[in-house]
Amino acid sequence: MERLGCKIIKEKLLADLAKRTQEFVAKGNRAPSIAVILIGSNGASESYVATKCKMAAELGFVHFDYRFDEDYTQDELLSLIDRLNADPEVDGILVQLPLPKHIDEESVINRISKDKDVDGFSPYNIGRLMLGQECFEPCTPKGIMEILRYYGISLSGKNVTVIGRSNIVGKPVAVMCMQKGVDATVTVCNTKTPDLKAHTLSSDVVIVATGRPSTIDASMVRDGATIIDVGVNRITDGSRPKGYRVVGDVDYDSFNGTSCRVTPVPGGVGLMTVVMLMENTYAAALRRAR
Ligand code: NAP
Repeated sequence: MERLGCKIIKEKLLADLAKRTQEFVAKGNRAPSIAVILIGSNGASESYVATKCKMAAELGFVHFDYRFDEDYTQDELLSLIDRLNADPEVDGILVQLPLPKHIDEESVINRISKDKDVDGFSPYNIGRLMLGQECFEPCTPKGIMEILRYYGISLSGKNVTVIGRSNIVGKPVAVMCMQKGVDATVTVCNTKTPDLKAHTLSSDVVIVATGRPSTIDASMVRDGATIIDVGVNRITDGSRPKGYRVVGDVDYDSFNGTSCRVTPVPGGVGLMTVVMLMENTYAAALRRAR
């Protein structure tokens, strides 16, 4: 098995982005900036937000942090987004998902200005993605395409199976794989797919985004296939200091002894997602400065 580690890609991309940011600022532009909003106290969300803010700071970006208790209302959040949309000091807005149950995610995503939607989740940006037009691409799918590019894995003429059809991963990555110029033949599976193995076995690349550990193992793919594991799952592990460990959606160890290429978890797609958020924020700053 070849481990498609992403730390090296992350470091390379960040070094390049830091250099571009310095040049941008040296030309007299204000540094790129991102407003990060976190509501409630979900452990995983808090750690994602901390990683995003740390990376923004390391790149020389400005970040505005908004933390609110679980009982923050939808109206309050929508008003805050309106203010940030109108604020010329803010290039990108990120609302950390999931939101508490009393807040409608769709309304919140729809409220973010299309020009500050650096997560790429709004109907405007998703619509443009679908049409193959320039847009803020959703960060995780964009990161997956970077991994494939870095490791020289062409999708042209290849069979790709995407397992999962969420709006933030499965659907957009499927669209990106089928775009003209990428040219994969794409199958998208869900929980009602009767014979998942039939699809994965005939695929050159399998992208797994289900949120279920061990959705696939080595017996379900052909030898030599590339497996992109998007999953992030905390499973109980009494031997770890935190009482859990993080695994993906793929039975990684089952690939030992095969010729498959597999992204690890941790150390894989998750690293790329944050870098792509910073790339989108930089792109928003460039647009603002034009
Ligand atoms: P989601 O909204 O829960 O969607 C999961 C999808 O997987 C659904 O479409 C579901 O089908 C499908 N599915 C679940 N089990 C399946 C099975 N056994 N066979 C076929 N399809 C199956 O999840 P998501 O937001 O896309 O996230 C997926 C995973 O990626 C999670 O572990 C999440 O934490 C992780 N994630 C990681 C990153 C990162 O940066 N690394 C970013 C985003 C998400 P139905 O539609 O039929 O229910």
